[in-house]
Amino acid sequence: MTQAAARSDALTPLRLLPAVDQVLKAEAARAALERHGRQATTAAVRTAIDERRAALRAGAGGPASAEEIAAAALARLDAAAMPSLRPVFNLTGTVLHTNLGRAVFAEEAVAAATRAMRSAVALEYDLDGGRRGERDDHVRNLICELTGAEDATLVNNNAAAVLIVLNTLSQGRPAVVSRGELIEIGGAFRMPEIMRRAGAELCEVGTTNRTHARDYRDAITPATGLILKVHTSNYRIEGFTAEVPARELAQIASAGGVPLVNDLGSGTLADLARYGLVHEPTVKEAVAEGADIVTFSGDKLLGGPQAGFIVGRRELVARINKNPMKRALRVDKVRLAAIEATLRLYSDPDRLAERLPTLRYLTRSAEDLAAQAARLAPLLAPILGAGFSIQPEPCRSQIGSGALPLETLAGVGLAIRARDGSGGRIARLADALRRLPVPVIGRIDDQALVLDLRCLEDEAAFVASVTALEGAHELA
Ligand SMILES: *Cc1c(COP(=O)(O)O)cnc(C)c1O
Repeated sequence: MTQAAARSDALTPLRLLPAVDQVLKAEAARAALERHGRQATTAAVRTAIDERRAALRAGAGGPASAEEIAAAALARLDAAAMPSLRPVFNLTGTVLHTNLGRAVFAEEAVAAATRAMRSAVALEYDLDGGRRGERDDHVRNLICELTGAEDATLVNNNAAAVLIVLNTLSQGRPAVVSRGELIEIGGAFRMPEIMRRAGAELCEVGTTNRTHARDYRDAITPATGLILKVHTSNYRIEGFTAEVPARELAQIASAGGVPLVNDLGSGTLADLARYGLVHEPTVKEAVAEGADIVTFSGDKLLGGPQAGFIVGRRELVARINKNPMKRALRVDKVRLAAIEATLRLYSDPDRLAERLPTLRYLTRSAEDLAAQAARLAPLLAPILGAGFSIQPEPCRSQIGSGALPLETLAGVGLAIRARDGSGGRIARLADALRRLPVPVIGRIDDQALVLDLRCLEDEAAFVASVTALEGAHELA
């Protein structure tokens, strides 16, 4: 550019905008180049310059320096590079929250999964014989020891377990199920639909509230594929009710020459009563009661990764494994490694409540939670500002994912209220907390935002995240 041209350009602020090359030399641009690479940085710088130019044309703002434009480009790149699936603080009070990823893995499971990701593993390779092996070999013995079952296999999740079991044992044949157990678990999983998709003929018996042994007996014909028992995990029928206990159902099935399949849902491998919680049917009990096949989830009370466990009689598990669907539903090496490590923790029940996060959260005492609430309330009060009150309050958490739906656990949370009682302000605060770099997710309860502390372990990280809350004073 000649000096004369430069002089005339200087008259228009538009021309004062730095060129792309200049901006790329700014300090923020060097950081952007380092983090995001040349192509993305150059594009972001161009966009930032274009935006400034548009703003100037619209009469908004003045000229910008290369450093300012580079900073704008960097901020945009950083924001876009933020992972979509990122950690949040689950302060909802629901320990196994399906929308928040259910169980948090034990450190042992994290380490095992990471090792499996970094390296080749003997996934389907028998190291003793140098022959082909099976991926189930890594966990079969562990599962059988913990459940008392003869054999076991794993699939993608419990919905998949139910699907492949029904398809293998009851395709084109009636599957007998009580009308009181035709459950829906979250929109997409409805037992009658899964049964049909599996190719089974739905053979409903009994009524919504009462099903008797004779209902099952009368329904069995030579064509029957199986009897299905479903643990009504997410609701309870009370009052004038009758159901056939699994043990009796096992006898009816055996007399009729058909297998009994028990879908436990959130089956647990440890007796929760041992840890001061309400007893939830264990897989071992379901097997001992005579079910031929039991299915349950990996990421509910078991406290591991998403997976579906199928345990039971050897010849039935062998048939399930031969179903071509198995290939479509199998688990990968990363999850398998995490499952194996999680299962191993169960062999030391004394330390299970320390090592398995799900159980650790569920067994936290109200006193422990109260002490944590008392530590945190005075740290958060100044961040929230004068417009909000915050105080420790008793609250009740739930297990979630359908387990023991009517049982709640006494705990303590932080209750935040707008001093003027405005629900709109509380909603805006909840919104701002969800937008933090590490989002904080609480629950709104009668004009208060309740932060249930049951699943909060890293207090320092939590305080650091909330400290980034900008404009809380404006919300107030
Ligand atoms: C949760 C549940 C399922 C589905 O299990 P996923 O692991 O979510 O696929 C099936 N049956 C019952 C009884 C359940 O509680």
